Amino acid sequence: MRKPFVAGNWKMNTDSHGAVKLAEGVVSGCGETAGHKVDVAVCPPFVYLQQVGKALHSSHIALGAQDVYFEQKGAFTGEISAAMLKDTGCAYVICGHSERRHVIGETDELINKKVKAALAGGLLPILCVGELLEQREADETADVVSRQLRGGLAGFSEEKVAAITIAYEPVWAIGTGRTATPEQAQEVHAMIRGLLTEMYGKKLSQEIRIQYGGSVKPDNAAELMGKEDVDGVLVGGASLKADDFVAIVKAAV
Ligand code: PEP
Repeated sequence: MRKPFVAGNWKMNTDSHGAVKLAEGVVSGCGETAGHKVDVAVCPPFVYLQQVGKALHSSHIALGAQDVYFEQKGAFTGEISAAMLKDTGCAYVICGHSERRHVIGETDELINKKVKAALAGGLLPILCVGELLEQREADETADVVSRQLRGGLAGFSEEKVAAITIAYEPVWAIGTGRTATPEQAQEVHAMIRGLLTEMYGKKLSQEIRIQYGGSVKPDNAAELMGKEDVDGVLVGGASLKADDFVAIVKAAV
């Protein structure tokens, strides 16, 4: 049985006061549910990681970052290393989010280096994959997702892959209010698990968690997570309201 995993991606939102308030609301709302029945993480902007980490301190809610750079240290102005994130209390890091792929221009090769650096630095990567609307309409979803998955995981041993969570996030569903139907999500999740079986064998592919992301809300979360291969959700907009995020966490149980 894969334990569900719900993570909140706060993106470039909140301020220092709001970030702490939000974290406190998530902690008190989740209570004992977090950590026991479902793994929960929040991913605030880099600059609020420490403050949010303090607010999460006595809870089972993990801290995550939204990105990482692949080099260990040196002249990389503006970048943040895995060791820095670990030092700040992060357990998870999102790699290859669609906004980084399509707004910032990250490639599979760069994302692969980031996933590698995250693992080497003791972080648990959440590797995001997902197709654009025009790619879905051109029937290219399987090709795109497969390329991103193989590219992101290139060169990983079975032992390393076990620590990674995959997030399937169709780009047309992110921040649009247009959620994939549970059937659409399940179809791609099953395809991803099939690819993982090809790449790493059945035992490992059954262990790896695959989250769905894209306009997840309290009223659609349970149905999505009710699908066999949907092992949790990565939540953007709805993770900015403690009550909504907590309702999503509870829907995972
Ligand atoms: C995301 O950014 O990972 C995301 C899924 O956003 P939203 O829930 O707002 O669609």
